[in-house]
Amino acid sequence: MRPGRFHNWPQRLTATALAVVAAVSCAPGRTAPPAVAPGTPAPAVAPNKAVAPGIEEAAPVDASPASPLASADASAALASAVVPASAELPPEENGPFVETVDEFVERLSLDEKELSVRVAQDLGSLGSMSVGKPNGGALINGVHMPESEHWQLIIPQLAWGTEETIHYLTTAIGAVVEQFPDSHPMFIGHLSRQEGGPLRPHRSHQSGRDVDLGYYYVPERAEWYRPATKHTLDRARTWAFVKALITLTDVEYIFMSTRVQMLVKEYALSIGEDADWLNSIFEFRSRNPEPIIRHTWGHRTHMHVRFYNPKAQAMGIRSYDALARHRVISPQVRFQPYLAKPGDSYAQLAQLAGVQAKTVEDTNAGRPLLAGRVVVVPVRGDVVRVDRLDVPVRRLPPGPSTTHATVVASPLDN
Ligand SMILES: [Zn+2]
Repeated sequence: MRPGRFHNWPQRLTATALAVVAAVSCAPGRTAPPAVAPGTPAPAVAPNKAVAPGIEEAAPVDASPASPLASADASAALASAVVPASAELPPEENGPFVETVDEFVERLSLDEKELSVRVAQDLGSLGSMSVGKPNGGALINGVHMPESEHWQLIIPQLAWGTEETIHYLTTAIGAVVEQFPDSHPMFIGHLSRQEGGPLRPHRSHQSGRDVDLGYYYVPERAEWYRPATKHTLDRARTWAFVKALITLTDVEYIFMSTRVQMLVKEYALSIGEDADWLNSIFEFRSRNPEPIIRHTWGHRTHMHVRFYNPKAQAMGIRSYDALARHRVISPQVRFQPYLAKPGDSYAQLAQLAGVQAKTVEDTNAGRPLLAGRVVVVPVRGDVVRVDRLDVPVRRLPPGPSTTHATVVASPLDN
């Protein structure tokens, strides 16, 4: 195993992307979409109605507002803001998940026409995209979690994520292996389906950013889905893993039962981790309203980790319209032209499309529905439109920040 250098440039890139998004969002004549608080459940979405029965197929009209990242201007601003930063980057190593800032900026800065051509003819060249939300989304150009002696895929067919998600997982497991070479394999449950979308029995796991993971156990108790207790849990390895996730990757949150949090937090305190920092990341015995590690029912047997994907989410926002136009995704709302027949009513069309009658009426400016007239029907799809990317800076422990420069061994570097 060869130690690989961890680059933190996506974090810097995101900070710049956020500045650009904020600037564009606040531009005159544009309303800034509401920020989505971490952990806010996505609204329920109607079942996929790619083609609503009774509604004729025709070229869809996209009348939805452009998102801040979905404009060439915003991307160009992002490009000029970010490119100089590439000069400070350490020499890039060649690896499956390494891309220079310039290469990423080039992807993100394609104009609408180029994007459209790429989606139609060379989708793979756009890289991994996490589109929509974890509870109503899609995964484009998913990457399969590779095989390794350091982890075990419980259901390999459901082990697809974005490049970033796969890289983050291998990085965090690699950090544990580096510290404890004799660890049992990490058990990896569901990530996403290859194309994302609904995955039973979960509400999330749809956009390549969610993963169910086992805990590290004492050797004789190592088994997928075993409840973590003071007798079964390997606190040192589990803490090493959680710490690596939080400090070396972009984690939105980790679901972990309170009782397991107690064991892990107590261990971290016992080895001298900073108490304030622990209070900021654990929900257990903390007043922080926004902990990363949260209790949710059912997470005594496994952890659920949701990553932020600075690159895959930015590309997902940027490409949403092109993906919808080419029907790679079924967008949240698409606008379908319809030739009215005698006896049609807005209420009837609305029922077929799975939306409110008033929505159809408003879309057509309240004009009477006459036979022979073409009207536009908004049809519900299942990939939610997202307008902004909000990745907070990593919550690092106090003291000299060696974390970003930490050399971690990734088993993928073999
Ligand atoms: Zn899960």
